[in-house]
Amino acid sequence: MSNPDHYVFSNSDHDYGRNVPEDDEELCKILDTSAPEAVRERRLKERAGRKLRRELREVAELKAELEQKIWRAKLAEHYYVWKTDVDSSLSPSAPPLAQFPQLPDEVCTCEELACKFEKAKEGGLAACEHDLEQVLRASGKYSRDWLRKERLRWHPDQIAKKCDPTMRDLLIKQATTMYAQFEVLIANERSSV
Ligand SMILES: [Zn+2]
Repeated sequence: MSNPDHYVFSNSDHDYGRNVPEDDEELCKILDTSAPEAVRERRLKERAGRKLRRELREVAELKAELEQKIWRAKLAEHYYVWKTDVDSSLSPSAPPLAQFPQLPDEVCTCEELACKFEKAKEGGLAACEHDLEQVLRASGKYSRDWLRKERLRWHPDQIAKKCDPTMRDLLIKQATTMYAQFEVLIANERSSV
């Protein structure tokens, strides 16, 4: 056990914080026997302040964890809705494609300057490859093989077969961009294996 005076009279918060006993009763015993009232009170307040800050930090961490969970659940839902839309828009029995099945705005959250520039281009996609990746990961199936399979349906030749002729140029341009994004994601998976 250290010298009780150290807890009471040390002016160094660093030393104090390091040596102060965790147990409240033990602390009170030490302080009661050797500290003037004002010092004792100050020390107890400091201790309460530290406890509060620790609790606030823990709550903030829990909040961040919960927000992450909620975001992942939202992404999974967006993926499901988008996938359903893609499946029906590109099915053989669907009417000619007049509009590209874009990812919803809510998941297009990438703020990189280059991506924002690409997204703003006329005839561009609402999503960059980072947005696409975060939605695809929500499928729970994300892998290089899965990406290679999914990429096929975005091949410009495949989209060309399904296009409404009046929208052909735009849709092929968008499909080309989407296909290239899949290529990037596949290449990233390859290099991360
Ligand atoms: Zn991006």
